[in-house]
Amino acid sequence: MKYISPAHFMFENMTSWLVPHITECSVTNISDSVCGCCGQSSTNWPNANKGVKGHKDSYGTVYDLCTMCMTLFYSNADLMGVERAPRVPNKFGMWASVGALIEKGKTTLFMPQKIKDKLPDNFPLDVQVLTGGNKLKYVLQSDVTFPCLFIDDLGKKKAELMASLEVSYHSEIFYICKAEETTSFNLAAIKEAIAKFSELDSKEQAKFKKLIKESSSGAISPMQLSEAVVESEALTALTRIIGPNPEQRNIFLKGVS
Ligand SMILES: [Zn+2]
Repeated sequence: MKYISPAHFMFENMTSWLVPHITECSVTNISDSVCGCCGQSSTNWPNANKGVKGHKDSYGTVYDLCTMCMTLFYSNADLMGVERAPRVPNKFGMWASVGALIEKGKTTLFMPQKIKDKLPDNFPLDVQVLTGGNKLKYVLQSDVTFPCLFIDDLGKKKAELMASLEVSYHSEIFYICKAEETTSFNLAAIKEAIAKFSELDSKEQAKFKKLIKESSSGAISPMQLSEAVVESEALTALTRIIGPNPEQRNIFLKGVS
């Protein structure tokens, strides 16, 4: 599949609707510049050679912004809701504990109830009240379409967030993006494992969960895990599908919790 710029994908499907409603700054023609947030040269911006000239950040540093990054820094209280009095709006780039599943033509935001309560009725994106590991659990239970972009936490570090973004093209390598780090796992394998797990009886399910937990934490060795499942064809197959990666095992446990 053709390479898709994560910034373009996020802009088109999650934030571009906001641009005409931002009144604190305006979009002007800019050439031979680099976005001070995502680092892309102005010819590669989502709106090529158009952006915010001379944005001044909270440290007093002045730089240009592409229209994608403009939607992280600037907002509109009527459409994004008021974060704090008097009229400081919620911003995509200052939304700690809010996650997003961005698919072509559809974005689902994940957030705590107290943040959802601040959104206006006309907020245009889909919202699910989900936090922590339940955001990823939603992905495990959905028919995700590709390409897509999963952001675990929009957070507050805009430049780091932009640098962390990876578009997932298929379910064998599914990226979990956030400012601090980007990880990936095999979504197809975990979904297959969850389906197979659901066919086990409850006693076997409990046994298998305990074994995977113990092997993830290092309480039992890979050899001990193999020995514990060797007599059951189903458990051996499940262990093989999930694979040896501890992160992937933890994601499986989230999916069956
Ligand atoms: Zn940018």
